[in-house]
Amino acid sequence: EYKGMSKERMLQIRRQYCNPMIMKGTSYKNPVFVNQGYMQWLWDVDGKRYLDLFAGVATVSVGHCHPKVTAAAQEQLKRLWHTTIIYVYPAIHEYCEKLAAHMPDPLKMVYLTNSGSEANDLAMLMARFHTGNHDIITLRGSYHGGSPQTMGLTSYASYKFPVASNSGCSNTMCPDVFRGLWGGSHCRDSPVQTTRDCGCGQGHCMAKEQYIGQLKETLATSVPGRIAAFFAEPIQGVGGAVQYPKTYLKEAYELVRERGGVCIADEVQTGFGRTGSHFWGFQGHDVLPDIVTMAKGIGNGFPMGAVVTTPEVAASFAKCLHFNTFGGNPMACTVASAVLDVRIPSLNNTAMNFKPNILQVSRDPLPTEDMLEIFEEVKDMGVLIGKGGLYGQTFRIKPPMCITKEDADFFLAVFNKCIHSYMERR
Ligand code: PMP
Repeated sequence: EYKGMSKERMLQIRRQYCNPMIMKGTSYKNPVFVNQGYMQWLWDVDGKRYLDLFAGVATVSVGHCHPKVTAAAQEQLKRLWHTTIIYVYPAIHEYCEKLAAHMPDPLKMVYLTNSGSEANDLAMLMARFHTGNHDIITLRGSYHGGSPQTMGLTSYASYKFPVASNSGCSNTMCPDVFRGLWGGSHCRDSPVQTTRDCGCGQGHCMAKEQYIGQLKETLATSVPGRIAAFFAEPIQGVGGAVQYPKTYLKEAYELVRERGGVCIADEVQTGFGRTGSHFWGFQGHDVLPDIVTMAKGIGNGFPMGAVVTTPEVAASFAKCLHFNTFGGNPMACTVASAVLDVRIPSLNNTAMNFKPNILQVSRDPLPTEDMLEIFEEVKDMGVLIGKGGLYGQTFRIKPPMCITKEDADFFLAVFNKCIHSYMERR
């Protein structure tokens, strides 16, 4: 029992009164009834401990209930909640200055929202208003939000509703070097580190050229010449940890800018040090976006989102009135400030660089039931991971940044065991 409520009663209430999607969203056959979190750990109502390597769908960046973040939130809770608009208070200023300090020039103008969808909605509007163009291009398999506008950016059948949401949104082939038509996980020029050779021509990546060719074709066939924006996640999250050939984004940005568009990096899953080597995912591609959107890990689980852009785009956007009642409220800004304060030392965590040595047998997706079987067994052995990808084929491992080498080793032991027992059962 938890707070006087049995597991059965919780399930019954879910069935009777809750958005049916959240029933599906539990994913597990036997759901985890989570009661408490601390750093990389979650405990269920019976006191069983889980190593959380999905960090609440990548929202918990520095650890569940991180003591410094919790202490800052508790103090602010007693002082002021309120709204962003009308009055002046320190928290939002402290945060905007701190976040801007983490961004390269000229990305310094900060807009605060309550979610990733809101941030991307705002970025779409900014791009259209600034450029005077309407068309936006995204990559297939991308997830950029579920609001009617961002649903147009998202390129994933499961999240599409048959409503008017796609005005001006086209998508182009995702330069997936693992499952895509070209490249293969062994593509030499891909940021995916392997030692095998893909047979690319010397010194250049054929896969990248093919995918850039596809983008050129989309630009020639699906949009009216000039465009407003190109949106891309530096690594696709919901799409299943999809990585692109090394200079793909750089060349794509050039093509987009030639046509009057701005380039937007969706860092909702990749930002705040989540890629290990860089603070922002776009830095791994050696590109400088015009607009960056962020959410999830920004507040370590507290609802928040942000858009950061250049003074030039901000000046265009200031010609119309825009505000967000709760975006950047004192609670959110205080929590997000504390997250930035604890984040930097944890970047040195060596466990972030571990590479599991699991034999790749085939690139064909496993049937969903088989994936779910492994997923369930990993959970039963005490580790929570995620799943995703266009065919539900990817295990998504997105730990909070406080995990240790021992945690990584424990996960690998569990995962190897579950994969091997699955193979034995076949
Ligand atoms: N962009 C990306 C890359 C995401 O993964 C998500 C959420 N999965 C969003 C945007 C939307 O964020 P939210 O659910 O906070 O609206």
